[in-house]
Amino acid sequence: MNPYETFDTKGRRQRPLKAEQKASLARFLDLAGDYLRDGYTYSQKAYTFTDDFREPRSVEADHAALPLRADSLEALEAEIQHCRDCPLHTHRIKTVPGEGVARPLVLVIGEGPGADEDTSGRPFVGKAGQLLDRMLASVDLSRERNCFIANVVKCRPPHNRDPLPEEIAACARFLNRQLALLKPRMIFCLGRVALQALLHTDAGIGRARGQLTTYQGFPLLGTYHPSALLRDVSLKRAVWEDLKILRDQLAALDTREP
Ligand code: SF4
Repeated sequence: MNPYETFDTKGRRQRPLKAEQKASLARFLDLAGDYLRDGYTYSQKAYTFTDDFREPRSVEADHAALPLRADSLEALEAEIQHCRDCPLHTHRIKTVPGEGVARPLVLVIGEGPGADEDTSGRPFVGKAGQLLDRMLASVDLSRERNCFIANVVKCRPPHNRDPLPEEIAACARFLNRQLALLKPRMIFCLGRVALQALLHTDAGIGRARGQLTTYQGFPLLGTYHPSALLRDVSLKRAVWEDLKILRDQLAALDTREP
């Protein structure tokens, strides 16, 4: 399956093209037309095309832009709503920027919206979301009181596939701005895709979970994604161990408060 594949209103397959691809196609059609008409090649016309989708910006460029922006969560949400920076915008019903409190203890980060999130515009509302709420409640956390829940990409990847690296890179500026605005005490990262995306590692989730590290200076802890837990209950023990680390770290931060 081509991840960039889209369909028009008549169900015909469409594929977004780069400007140079369109120019090559136009030149070919010109030459073919000239040849069929009288066998001669005429001088090529000049064309100006634009890409159907933009190249993702580098994470570094987005970081550099961060301090210059007057920002708010509401402004960011509006910007996400209109974003067409990667091909995922062609499939979405709603964008899913995230939800929770403005000064959270914990920023929870998953990989991307699923079908329920795509239709509701809210993060983690399906079965995995309900399990996540129970996981957080077991260590006295919730999206209503002290957490903010977001994803590395804000639009649903088609057929629930993993987001592609270029889609994650295109969307990183939003997550990084959320981080700068929310200033959480800790990041709790759910699943392999989100953990690998943030830490730029190939390490499997089995190895990387439960290890305290940092992302942009914020303490980060990873664990299994709640969907993995729904598929395999034997992971429950490991997730509980990770939740206890999260709880203890937050308690230690509290006691270090002036
Ligand atoms: S996934 Fe992110 S970068 Fe891609 S269109 Fe949606 S908001 Fe924009």
